Amino acid sequence: MSPDQIRKFLKEELKSKSGKSSSQVSAASLATICVDPGHGGSDPGAVSGTTQEKTLNLAIAKWLKQYLESDGFSVVMTRSTDVYVNLTTRYTIANNNNVDAFVSVHNNSGVSTARGTECIYPSNHDVDSSLSLATEVTDAVVNGTSLPKHRDPYSSSTLVVLTQTTMPAIISEGGFITNTTDRNYLLSSAGQEALGSSIELGVYFWWVAWLS
Ligand SMILES: [Zn+2]
Repeated sequence: MSPDQIRKFLKEELKSKSGKSSSQVSAASLATICVDPGHGGSDPGAVSGTTQEKTLNLAIAKWLKQYLESDGFSVVMTRSTDVYVNLTTRYTIANNNNVDAFVSVHNNSGVSTARGTECIYPSNHDVDSSLSLATEVTDAVVNGTSLPKHRDPYSSSTLVVLTQTTMPAIISEGGFITNTTDRNYLLSSAGQEALGSSIELGVYFWWVAWLS
């Protein structure tokens, strides 16, 4: 299925689960998602040659925001420009806005042969729903981009944007900027859009599955 067909399918699922009409589903705000583009300003994140992680994260996060909003989600961004935002501010924005999920957009670095996508979730709260979100996003990225799976989702007890948030939370590591194939894909506008769109489809799948 194309992304458009998947979105149509999810909207039908949502309509039948919620008992709402098509116009109500598209007009209603489904949920509020905090989108957190990692790093920024004086903090470039991972660096490989002239490629800085912060720039890729922001470009991908903007596509994620655009697709979320077009599918009826509300979005709170922790940054929308190339500015430094500390970690406390990031999780406080999510907590103070009562968002339904926190999605931090990052890219990885490592040995030059390491490539592909992975997600991290908190070990201390909302574990089941965060793992579900992490799994949906990983699968959607593998299906919707040329990025392979690096590994299955794993939990962290030390990453504060995960442990200090008060709602389901993940970090999406899209690909490895230290791998030539991943980096070229992440630098392309088609790759950035496909990755943002795929993360969004993962969030959308998760929301439809967890809607009570
Ligand atoms: Zn990062």
